[in-house]
Formats: sequence, structure tokens, C-alpha cells
Amino acid sequence: MRIMKRPNILLTGTPGVGKTTLGKELAQRTGLTYINVGDLAQEGQLFDGFDEEYQCPVLDEDRVVDELEDKMVDGGVIVDYHGCDFFPERWFHIVFVLRTDNTNLYNRLESRGYTGKKLQDNVQCEIFQTIYEEAMEAYKEEIVHQLPSNDPEDLERNMEQIVQWIEQWMKDNN
Ligand code: ADP
Ligand code: MG
Repeated sequence: MRIMKRPNILLTGTPGVGKTTLGKELAQRTGLTYINVGDLAQEGQLFDGFDEEYQCPVLDEDRVVDELEDKMVDGGVIVDYHGCDFFPERWFHIVFVLRTDNTNLYNRLESRGYTGKKLQDNVQCEIFQTIYEEAMEAYKEEIVHQLPSNDPEDLERNMEQIVQWIEQWMKDNN
């Protein structure tokens, strides 16, 4: 029996835009494998130093890539991370950059416990569309899509759209 080919999807965007919420629900709906890169790094201690300014460990990007490579080759993976320029371009068939309005994002991050510079810098990251530009640099522009992620209706719409895209991709590639 031939195994069905399945696409790899990257969900990226500023912390708080809703990557994890969308990614987990998508995985449930589609049977694709959800991988949270932050959690993966935590579990494997894939860190390389400590960022004094933000008081957080620094990701060891090379070890993260090594750790993920085999799974990505198999396909059918949804990757969730707030950065995207260190993954091999060939991994992903589509990249979604989630976007949230400033006030909305501010409130979400504040209720997550972010304060001061960390809170301001993350909201500024969204205002400057830093991750969108990073994605447009790192991947072919035609596979990079922005998705509004402000309310439950957006979540539902994004789910439907991505599920449809996956179904079409599987028809076209199997
Ligand atoms: P990320 O993984 O990008 O940091 P999360 O998925 O953890 O973001 O979501 C951050 C917060 O925003 C959570 O409280 C979540 O419930 C909420 N949230 C996520 N997506 C939406 C949405 N489409 N509408 C309203 N709230 C959302
Ligand atoms: Mg998350």
C-alpha cells in the first residue's frame, strides 16, 4: 500500500496571535501532527545560551532543525513557532502568518503575564510586521499567506480555509 503524501504547514507570527490555538485544532480536524517548537526545545533542552535582556533561553536553531528533519521528510506536520527564518525552505508547502490588531494583541499578552519591555516589544513586532517580512524573505512569496486572527469567527474561517487547502493539496499530490 502506498502511503498518502501530506503537506507540511508552518504557522508563524508574533507571540499571542493564536498559532497554538489554530494549530492544535487543525491537527485534531485533519490528523496531521502538531509540533510546537518552543515545547520541543524545552523538552530536549535544545538551547544555546541565555538572553539576559528577555530573561529566556536562546533556541539552538541547528539542533531544532536536526531534531525535526526526519519528521518533515515524512510530511503531514504542522509546525508552530514565532520565528521562521532558520527552517529549511524546502520543508514547507505553505506558510501562514497570523495577524492580530494591536489592542487585541496587547490585551492577550498582558493576560499571559507579559509586562514592560517584553509586552511593548512584542506588540511593536506585530505593528512592524516583523514576522511577515521574515517569512517573505525566507520563503517563496506565493506560499506565504497572512491570516487575520482577531476573534472566534476568524479562527473558524482560517480552519475551514486551511482544511480545504490540505484536501486540495492531497488530491493534487497523490
Ligand atoms: P500563540 O500560540 O500565537 O502565542 P495562542 O494560541 O496561545 O497564541 O493564543 C493567545 C491567546 O489568544 C489565547 O488566550 C487564545 O485563546 C486567544 N486567541 C487565539 N486565537 C484567537 C481568536 N481567533 N480569537 C480570539 N482569541 C484568540
Ligand atoms: Mg503558542
